[in-house]
This record gives sequence, structure tokens and C-alpha cells, in this order.
Amino acid sequence: MAETASHRVLIIEDEKNLARFVDLELQHEGYETAICYDGRSGLDMALSQNWDVILLDLMLPELNGLEVCRRIRPIKDTPIIIMTARDSVIDRVSGLDQGADDYIVKPFAIEELLARLRALFRRIDTEEDHRASHQPTVKYRDLVVEKANRIVKRGDQVIDLTKREYELLLYLMENLNMVMSRETLLDKVWGYKSEVETNVVDVYIRYLRNKIDVPGQDSYIQTVRGTGYVMRT
Ligand code: CA
Repeated sequence: MAETASHRVLIIEDEKNLARFVDLELQHEGYETAICYDGRSGLDMALSQNWDVILLDLMLPELNGLEVCRRIRPIKDTPIIIMTARDSVIDRVSGLDQGADDYIVKPFAIEELLARLRALFRRIDTEEDHRASHQPTVKYRDLVVEKANRIVKRGDQVIDLTKREYELLLYLMENLNMVMSRETLLDKVWGYKSEVETNVVDVYIRYLRNKIDVPGQDSYIQTVRGTGYVMRT
């Protein structure tokens, strides 16, 4: 199955030859598509169904592209790529002002449009991954970090951490199984870019262990000799 199979593209374009050409090319690439030949039906289609991207011409009968864009935006945040025949800076800026995400100047090579779509979907997928990896709650075994209120619990027990201890723990928990050097931890948690005395990391790891670990059991934070620290699953 093509990677793009689930992406739906709405084409709003009154030049029928161009619309059909783009439509065929996109279908060939595995996109699901629909065409509207005027602004009014394009707006209806944009609002009544879910699309992954809308390709929007500006010079359209019934309702121009800028107006279509302006009316979609308060209701839906579907990405919109404006297709403009006029290589006019004002058109592009107006389109972007009305909430379009990108524009492509006609005539364009179909390869360029396909590349724009791939870039757009890559960006969206990355943002989704990013959101998924930034859950409000981060867990490791029976340790739970509630990020919104910065509460750390082991089991039912709330653990009182200083700001720096909290940041250090969160960073390790958000990067499970990745061995973090002292330099990396200094950079990410303390914001030190330059060479500084890295003992401070070891000191804080000790503070943290004293608070989160159970005496007599293995530490949740492992030391990787000569390298740094890691929390392993
Ligand atoms: Ca047109």
C-alpha cells in the first residue's frame, strides 16, 4: 500500500484541464481526491468532509479563493495550498494572511506540487509524533510524572523534588534507554553549553536516587561507567 493512501486531497480549480491533470497525477500517487470547479461548491466540500489538504485556486467563479480560505479557517484548520496563476506577491501574502499554509505559482511542474505535498505531510506527521511523545503524563515502572502540575509519584507516594531534580528526572524518563552523557545532561537540564565542571550531574543524580529509589533495591537510574546515566526499560 502506498504511503500516501490515506491522504485525501480536495482540488478547487476552475481550469478543468489543469484540475483533471492534477487529479490524475495525485490518484496515481495514491491520494484520494475530489475536484470542485467553483468556489461555492469548493467551500461546501471543504466544510462537509474531512480533507488532509486543500489545493485552492485564487481566481474562481462564484466565490474567489481568498474568500473560500477566509471562510474555511474559523471552522477548520485543514492545510491549504494556494495555486495562483499570477506571480503576484500581493496574492500570495493575502492568501497566507487568510490562513493558507503554502502557495505554488502556476504554471508549476507536477513534481513540484508532489514534493510540496510530501513535505507538508512529513511536517504534519512529525508534529503528531512530537505531540504523542509529549504526553502530559510520563511513566517509568511505578514512577509517574504529571507534567501539568509537576507532581512526581512513586506508587501513591508523592516525591518532593527541587526544580533541577525534576527536570533531570523528566529528561531521563522522556529518553528511556538512551545513555545520556554528563555533557548532554548539563546542556539539556542546566543549559550549560560550555565546558564546565560536570560533577554537578553526579551530585544531582545522587540526590535524585535518594528520593526516588527504595533502599536496598537497584536504582532506577543506572550508571554507565565512563559514559553517563540511563533509565532502562
Ligand atoms: Ca482560476
